Amino acid sequence: MARYTGATCRLCRREGMKLFLKGDRCYTDKCAFVRRSYAPGQHGAAKKKLSNYGVQLREKQKARRIYGVLEGQFRTYYEKADNMRGITGENLLKLLEMRLDNVVYRLGYGASRAEARQLVTHGHFLVNGKKVDIASYKVSVNDEILVTEKSRGTEKFKTFIENPKTLPKWLEANVENYSGKVIAEPSREDIDVPVNETLIVELYSK
Ligand code: SF4
Repeated sequence: MARYTGATCRLCRREGMKLFLKGDRCYTDKCAFVRRSYAPGQHGAAKKKLSNYGVQLREKQKARRIYGVLEGQFRTYYEKADNMRGITGENLLKLLEMRLDNVVYRLGYGASRAEARQLVTHGHFLVNGKKVDIASYKVSVNDEILVTEKSRGTEKFKTFIENPKTLPKWLEANVENYSGKVIAEPSREDIDVPVNETLIVELYSK
């Protein structure tokens, strides 16, 4: 699966906000956005007024970057969301939130979604007893996510277990058993990403 391989901090600077893409570093004064809170490039520091289209485009790019999804795949998510019942923007965020890499991140494995994605693709997780190494795999309600026996003994996983994250309402976890469960679909209030999904829908509906 293709993924963005360029400079990560550049993405935060382009979006004009911290997107927390690098885990622990994002909370230190080494954060590139703290040091240079203007867009990258020769004219990045110049103030520019965005058109409506520009505002919508930036919102879409921000969502893509937070979830680590490339353009083509993001468009596919939008089309799926548009064909679902309910509000398209909320459906879109729900689909992104229910990716396996995001669920693993929410369960506390990985300091960033990028790290969680790597853990998934390296085969550290079972979903309902079967190994799944596809980051974009969509989880369903009642799915159980388990760290493989082999991975549990590693220092990395022990560290995750010793530092549990606050879980969103739609997930539950049994930390000692290295397991998690999807107990509901996330609602919009459960999704704490700083994205205005209405602007993304406006962009794609043109
Ligand atoms: Fe963004 Fe984190 Fe880099 Fe700061 S350190 S610019 S929050 S990715």
